[in-house]
Amino acid sequence: TDFGFRDVPTGEKQKLVGQVFSSVARNYDLMNDLMSLGIHRVWKRYFTATAQVKRGDRVLDLAGGTGDIAALLKDRVGEAGGIVLGDINGEMLRVGRDRMTDRGRVRGFEYVQCNAEALPFPDASFDLVTIAFGLRNVTDKDAALREMHRVLKVGGQARVLEFSEVKPEWFRPIYDFHSFQVLPRLGRLFANDADSYQYLAESIRKHPPQDVLKAMMDGAGFARTRYRNLSAGIVAVHDGYKA
Ligand code: SAM
Repeated sequence: TDFGFRDVPTGEKQKLVGQVFSSVARNYDLMNDLMSLGIHRVWKRYFTATAQVKRGDRVLDLAGGTGDIAALLKDRVGEAGGIVLGDINGEMLRVGRDRMTDRGRVRGFEYVQCNAEALPFPDASFDLVTIAFGLRNVTDKDAALREMHRVLKVGGQARVLEFSEVKPEWFRPIYDFHSFQVLPRLGRLFANDADSYQYLAESIRKHPPQDVLKAMMDGAGFARTRYRNLSAGIVAVHDGYKA
């Protein structure tokens, strides 16, 4: 089925990422819960509850997937506010839109199939731009950060939630065991798909650690960049502002 989402150009990595998310789209929410023991819900709540946003604001949630962040942010912008959920993958957008519609959440949401590296929005269109568990899948992260900065209004906040570098040394072997032994097995058991979850674990290890990502945000033009580790650095929240 074709819901009229526009085709976007895809490079090799994007093709692979596309396959991964197309194959996990349906089991995505269940897997998130299994993988993180439900803790991703707490991270997402923190991420949205402390974002710089107010009633009536217009928000872009990039790599919005099945809409967890969009739904939480909509509660903060209220009736008058609007959320644009952008994702490169039509299947994730479809699952997301269906899920939102099933929950009775229709007004104030827009869905746009787009690549974070080249956003189809004019400069200064949003009060807040978020990307949660999405940046590590983007090939050209610097381009995506520059685009986030470009579409942000002056004074607006960009917020990144992403897996990061686990801080305590003693925790790392446990974390590695979970990622490379437990996760792919859970993937095989529940989604009949070990490879996608192996890819996810590897992509987490390749993602730039806290300080490197902060420097990348500086390089993209953001002011007052900072980060905060959650759960010992399993994930980090990075912020930057458009001055
Ligand atoms: N933000 C959601 C959440 O927290 O549950 C979904 C995160 S999911 C792990 C990653 C999403 O990033 C997928 O839906 C995938 O299609 C999307 N994605 C990957 N590369 C992208 C790109 N270059 N531009 C936009 N979205 C992308």
